[in-house]
Amino acid sequence: LTGGIASGKTTIANRFATLGASVVDTDIGARRVVEPGEPGLVEIVQAFGSAVLSADGSLNRAALRRLIFRDATARQRLGDLLHPRIEAWALAEVARATGPYCLLVVPLLVESGRLLPHVRRVLVVDVPEAVQIERLCARDGVSEQDARLALTAQATRAQRLAAADDVIDNSAPPARIEQRVVELHACYLACAQAGGRD
Ligand code: ATP
Repeated sequence: LTGGIASGKTTIANRFATLGASVVDTDIGARRVVEPGEPGLVEIVQAFGSAVLSADGSLNRAALRRLIFRDATARQRLGDLLHPRIEAWALAEVARATGPYCLLVVPLLVESGRLLPHVRRVLVVDVPEAVQIERLCARDGVSEQDARLALTAQATRAQRLAAADDVIDNSAPPARIEQRVVELHACYLACAQAGGRD
């Protein structure tokens, strides 16, 4: 499952989890691999300096975000450092999952392409950019300008849709979204039972 920032990935993944799917969210992996004591955190400090640490030795996310927000090279460097670690974490979690199928939530699936060989179908949570910006501003209290900037750092809506096997329109009325989740859950159950790639 993928989608742009604030498109509703977590919200939709939670709906699948309620239906019984196993969910592995790489955003959780992204936190785990930089916990104190993890080699990922040591590498971040080596790359960006100790100013990215809080007084208690944990990662100061706000400081790191400020460093990379307007700096594409720094963003790339952080990605190169973290993505292999997050990928390894995610695949280990998938191997441990006990549900009938596993929904792997990967915000930058299309951008990095790294986990694509490990999935059987790509589900895109899709909303118009205006809705993304509106929900991002409402949820995180960021300015519209910063919300737009966050969007431009990601794949476009069209690029994401081009990679999709399945799409959920998360700007549709709630009942329609729910119906689509139920429909796709049935499809993924059948797909898992059939086995193999499709
Ligand atoms: P991120 O990219 O930051 O990880 P996300 O894609 O996981 O975000 P969510 O956090 O699930 O997105 O949703 C973004 C915001 O939009 C949240 O405040 C959420 O409550 C709201 N939201 C999600 N889906 C809907 C919907 N169908 N209708 C209205 N609001 C929604």
